[in-house]
Amino acid sequence: MEIIEKVHAIKMPFQIKTGKGLILDRFVYVYLIYGEEIYLIDSGVASSRKIICDYLEKSGRSCDELALIIHTHAHPDHIGSTKSLQEISNSATAIHQTETSWLEDTESQLLERPVPGFRQLVEGSVNVDIALEDHDAIELEENIHLEVIHTPGHSPGSISLFIPDEKILFSGDAIPLAGDIPIYDDYQDSVNSLKKLKDLKNVDMILSSWDDPKTFDEAQESINDSIEYLEYIHQ
Ligand SMILES: [Zn+2]
Repeated sequence: MEIIEKVHAIKMPFQIKTGKGLILDRFVYVYLIYGEEIYLIDSGVASSRKIICDYLEKSGRSCDELALIIHTHAHPDHIGSTKSLQEISNSATAIHQTETSWLEDTESQLLERPVPGFRQLVEGSVNVDIALEDHDAIELEENIHLEVIHTPGHSPGSISLFIPDEKILFSGDAIPLAGDIPIYDDYQDSVNSLKKLKDLKNVDMILSSWDDPKTFDEAQESINDSIEYLEYIHQ
């Protein structure tokens, strides 16, 4: 799905098989940035590589052109196909410094944060080339700049990414959906991150990993609902 010429979204359906034979239907959005090379925000789950490469081929590009995979955080549905994509393209990888170890040793994440079906969702570990920090500026190309905004709470190293020239913000999983499974590592950090996103200036559109693309005005409402929902769950 084209958001703007330079930014495309792909919605990846996947299933989580729980130990008790239950199957949860989930989805995650990954985002492509088209420039002279291609940049990927999150890699989905293990089965996402083919969908991403097919999408690129339909638009006349190729997975070989992937130059950088930036992860909004290291949860399995965001790092799942990084290993094979990295092998095909020799792309660099980036993630917030707090979560490099979870990407470089995926088994360590499984030990610290056991998620049902983890090994089916994640292909394996990869080396991290760029450890990101809050306020980092990433110059992908002459005309494509990204800013890193640390938005912890959902996970310790969750980041949002902002393209000021296009007024587009990628929020990863930082904005929980009211009524959905609440996933947060730290309640107060999560609320603070939501307030930080709400107060951003010059944003036209918010692209989340688990919600459809929204204008900033629509997203304000979602963020208010999220804060209320988190407060309710926390109590
Ligand atoms: Zn997550």
